[in-house]
Amino acid sequence: MLLVRKVDGPATARVGDRVTYRATEFNRINPTEDEKRGINWLIECEGEAFRHETNVGDVFTLEITDILVGKTIVAKPFANQPSSAVSVFTLIQPEPKQRLREQWGTIQTEFADILIENVAGFSEQELVGRIRSLADELDDLIDSIGPIERDEEDDQDPELTPPEARRLAIIVGHTLHRQGAAALPPIDQNEYPFNTEIARRMELAAANHGMVARTFFRDGVGIQGAYQNAVAFDPDSIIELHFNAAENPAARGTETLYGDVNPDSRRLAELVQNSMVSVFGRSRSGNRGIKVRQPGDRGFASVTAAPTVPSVLVEPFFGSNAGECRLAHEKAVEYAEGLVDALVKFTNLSEH
Ligand SMILES: [Zn+2]
Repeated sequence: MLLVRKVDGPATARVGDRVTYRATEFNRINPTEDEKRGINWLIECEGEAFRHETNVGDVFTLEITDILVGKTIVAKPFANQPSSAVSVFTLIQPEPKQRLREQWGTIQTEFADILIENVAGFSEQELVGRIRSLADELDDLIDSIGPIERDEEDDQDPELTPPEARRLAIIVGHTLHRQGAAALPPIDQNEYPFNTEIARRMELAAANHGMVARTFFRDGVGIQGAYQNAVAFDPDSIIELHFNAAENPAARGTETLYGDVNPDSRRLAELVQNSMVSVFGRSRSGNRGIKVRQPGDRGFASVTAAPTVPSVLVEPFFGSNAGECRLAHEKAVEYAEGLVDALVKFTNLSEH
């Protein structure tokens, strides 16, 4: 009797694929087609028989339908008895939508946990921070599947970009559809349009230093996508632009967030924070300092998205504070130029 010794098949597949399994080695060399016709197949899904067919031959094809999403199937060709020794595993990969549903579920659970823990005594401020961070995650989840309406602009003239030039990646926080916090007059804009303008000014300032700055957006690609695009630009540093907001209209100050995934991010954060403190003339209370982000903290996803590049996220002022908005409006150009000065200083210092 012809026995199967080995079977081949794909390690992964997606819904809609036609997967082919093939018996490739037997107890005899060169069996006849007639002998091969006697091969039976058992397909298991999550340990249970899913398909069982006799006299199929050495090739078995299977349509992957959506009931198999996220599951592992095992194909076993056999003569008498199916055996794990002659089997192949295929993981049916989740569809993007399925993955999003799972992520959404995780965030919901986290949200519920925070509310429950609050009973045990989160401070109000911690609670607000946690919930804002979750809201950002949800926004980002939606952004990552959203349509891209922005023109794919590439206004860098390659002839003006010497290959050895230092490079700066700017990421504008939030998206066209969810523009982030609002700033009071005279700014009277949300984070997204305000920081798009700051990014343009930074590009000009960088050019004056012989540095190439390029701006990246989260629209349609989410935080991860924006950082991936930024990393592909091969920058020396990445800065994400925001501004702060709070219920309390008196809340004020400048802070810079960073992650500990890149050892140089802290030094970059210090330079950037010093620049903003100087531009805005921050006294001790207005200097909220540099803050390393932990999982669950607002901004964590951003400052840890590109571990290979020093990255910071800036919160220069509070849009919810009228005095802060007057100050930021007045100092907007200096602010943009000051950020670039700090980034130039950073890259020059890190030159080998
Ligand atoms: Zn923001």
